[in-house]
Amino acid sequence: MKKSKAKKRRIIYVFGLIVFLIVLFLVGWFFAILFEGEKPSISLEPLPEFFTKIQEFNLSISDRKRGLKRLTISVKQGGREINVLKKEFPFNGLLNRQGVHQFKKEIFIDPLVLNLAQGRADLYVQVWDYSRQGGGDGNHSLVQHKMIVDTIPPAIRAISRQHNINQGGVGLIVYQASSDTEESGVFVDDHFFPGFPVNEKSQEGIHVSYFAISYNASKTPKIHLWAKDMADNASKTTFYIHVRNNTFRKERLTISDRFLEQILPYFSFYPFDPGESNIKKFLIINNDLRKENHKTLLKVAETTHPDKLWEGSFLRLKNAATMARFADLRSYYYKGKKIDEQGHFGVDLASLSSSPIQAANSGKVVFADRLGIYGLTVVLDHGQGITSVYAHMSKISAPLGQEIKKGESIGFTGRTGLAAGDHLHFGIMVNGIFVNPIEWFDSHWIKDNINRKLSLIK
Ligand SMILES: [Zn+2]
Repeated sequence: MKKSKAKKRRIIYVFGLIVFLIVLFLVGWFFAILFEGEKPSISLEPLPEFFTKIQEFNLSISDRKRGLKRLTISVKQGGREINVLKKEFPFNGLLNRQGVHQFKKEIFIDPLVLNLAQGRADLYVQVWDYSRQGGGDGNHSLVQHKMIVDTIPPAIRAISRQHNINQGGVGLIVYQASSDTEESGVFVDDHFFPGFPVNEKSQEGIHVSYFAISYNASKTPKIHLWAKDMADNASKTTFYIHVRNNTFRKERLTISDRFLEQILPYFSFYPFDPGESNIKKFLIINNDLRKENHKTLLKVAETTHPDKLWEGSFLRLKNAATMARFADLRSYYYKGKKIDEQGHFGVDLASLSSSPIQAANSGKVVFADRLGIYGLTVVLDHGQGITSVYAHMSKISAPLGQEIKKGESIGFTGRTGLAAGDHLHFGIMVNGIFVNPIEWFDSHWIKDNINRKLSLIK
C-alpha cells in the first residue's frame, strides 16, 4: 500500500514537472513571439543625389514576424520637419497573424509643394512593427537619405551679339553661364557643340563655343544656347543669328578602267569577296570604307584641348591650285552611267609632286596613320573642337602626340588612298562636323567672326 502511494506521488510529480515545463516553454515561446527582435525591412528607390523636381519613390516595407504597425515619411531641412506620410496598420488576429506584413507604395514628393529651400534636405522613412520591444513601441527601422535640393536651372546669356553664319561655315559665340553650370554649349538642331570656359578673373563663367551650320542643314536650323547644372536642371536661350544659305557645286567624275587599275592596289588590305569586279570594289571603297573612315575621324575629333591653341588665319598649301571645293556634290559615271554620288568635305589643293605640307595652325597631332580613302593622313587638334585634316600624303613627318607650331612641316603631299593625282586634301572639322576651310584661310573672316568676338572678353 505504502509503496504504491509513493509510486503514485512520483507519477504525479513527474507529470506535474512535465506540465510545468510545457507551460514554461509555452510562456517562453509566447514572450519570444511577443518580444521578437527582428526589425522591419525598408527598400526605397531611387536614391537621387539631387532633388530637382517632383520625384517618384518606390517604397517597399515588410515585417515577417509581428507585422507592420506604423510608417512615417518626412523630410527634414534645417530645424524643420515636414510630414509627407503617416500610416498606421491595423492589428488583426491572434498575435497580429492576419495583420499587414508587406506594404508597397509609390510616393511622389515635390520640393516646391513642400516649400523646400535650395540646399541639403534629408528624407526619413521610419517603420515600426507590433513587437513589444522598445518599451512596447516595437522594433524600429530607419532609412535616412541625404539630398541636395536644386530646382533652379543655370543662368545663361549671350555676350557676343551678331552671328552671321554661312551654310557649311562656322560661328563663334561668347556667353556667360552661372557658376553652377556643369556643361554648356550650342545646339544646332540635334547636334551639340560644347562650350569651353575661358578663365578670366574679372568676368566669371565666360565661355566660348564654336558651332557649325552643316552644308546640309535645314533652311531654318533651330539654334540655341544651352546649359545644365550638376542636378541636371537645364536652361536654354536663343541669340541673334543669321544664316546665309549657300548652294554648292555639282561635279561630274568619270571613272575609267585605267583609274581603277591605278587606285585599287592601294586597297589590297580590304577584305573584298574573291572575284569581285573592279567597279564593285570601287563602289565598296567609295561607300563602306568612306563611312568607316568618317567614323574614325569623328572619334579622333572627340577629344580636344579645352584651350584655343591656334592664332590667326590658317595657312593654305603654298603655290597650290584649288582642284575641288568644299561640299562639291560629286556624281560618279562609269561607261556613261551614273553609279554613285558623294559629297566632298574639304578642299583639294595641288602643287608640285611631294610638296612640303605645313601645319595650317598650331596644335597637336591627334592622328598620323593610314586612313582608308584618305590615304596617309594627319589630324591636328587646335583646341576647343577645331581640327584640321591633311590627306593623301606621301610621307608623314609629325608623330602622334607631338605639339606642332603653325607653319611647321608635317609631311609631304602625295596620292595615297582614293586620289587620282598628287594633291593635298585639306579639311576642317568643328566638333566632328566638316566645315568650309575657305573661311579659315581668310584673315578678314577670322578678324570679323572670331577675333572681334574674343575681344569682348576682358
Ligand atoms: Zn579631296
